[in-house]
Amino acid sequence: MPVRVSARSFVITGRTHVYGVLGDPVSHSLSPVFWNAALRAVGLDAVYVPFPVPAGRLSTALAGLQASGVRGVNVTLPHKEAAAAACTALEAPADQIGAVNTVRFAADGTMHGYNTDALGMIDLLATFDRPPDKVVLLGAGGAAKAVLWSLFQAGATVVYWSNRTGSRLVSPWGSDRTRVQPVPWASESLKDAMVDSTLIINATSLGWRAEDRLPWLGQTLSPRSTYLDLNYHPSSRLLLDARANGARVIDGLALLVRQGAAAFTLLTGMPAPLSVMRRALRRHLGVQATDSEASPRSQGASAPSPRRRQ
Ligand code: NAP
Repeated sequence: MPVRVSARSFVITGRTHVYGVLGDPVSHSLSPVFWNAALRAVGLDAVYVPFPVPAGRLSTALAGLQASGVRGVNVTLPHKEAAAAACTALEAPADQIGAVNTVRFAADGTMHGYNTDALGMIDLLATFDRPPDKVVLLGAGGAAKAVLWSLFQAGATVVYWSNRTGSRLVSPWGSDRTRVQPVPWASESLKDAMVDSTLIINATSLGWRAEDRLPWLGQTLSPRSTYLDLNYHPSSRLLLDARANGARVIDGLALLVRQGAAAFTLLTGMPAPLSVMRRALRRHLGVQATDSEASPRSQGASAPSPRRRQ
């Protein structure tokens, strides 16, 4: 276990442990913000730093960090699938999803890969008053697969799944409880599916640019809908439009902090101080509490409403 130190007296020394995040680009990553706040809060003699690693260099970077005594790292775009291939062992559900965002370097030289996007999503869905029933999932990349897996775990009855490239809509999983229904992107059937669902999830990369739009969003969201967007640009048109339609909105910070908390516990062996992590993020971004952290407000009859945690 790393040595514990007081936050006020923290100095990096030869004994300080190192954690980090590998990505390209990585300079925008918010993980160092809440990880370092969490490390100070629990009193660990450790730091968390960003490592810019270009595509194609991941396994070299992982081997080098492991050889340098780093305890473990997070992995972000574009490396999540390459990380799954580089690990010696994949821990569920990373093995089923085929993507890894957390790598733990074990003392025996093995590399263990985890998918805490999926674990964080399970944790987020567990805050809903009711399990998700009918859901629209937009996107079919690594994050969408992690979300789809967690919707199976949470027992959603129907997942209407839509993506720009329809051929990617092949579910690796099946269950008696959850039916996955592929829906053509921007079609009338997608509009019907959005009206029929109480939870709409944007797991595409759309939402970071002012001009980004999602098909039918403005016409189908209502106060009985919950809109969960994995992106979290504060002036995202999608988030603003969803709020304007009266939908309950959960932005990507809610998942970011939960996947980070799961990774923190896996890599340090300590419970993650969630409220410290949230506060650090909010202070850094200069934003108020997200809807998922705020007290529940009255909901439509069938809308799942997130409960306040801790
Ligand atoms: P990814 O593997 O690159 O997948 C991106 C998805 O977005 C693909 O399905 C892609 O469609 C779709 N897409 C991209 N441009 C589009 C466009 N112009 N129109 C329609 N669809 C488009 O990325 P990812 O890892 O799944 O991540 C997706 C998003 O989630 C990213 O913005 C990422 O930052 C965010 N994320 C957030 C968290 C969090 O903690 N909040 C965690 C993970 C990811 P095609 O399949 O047709 O290419």
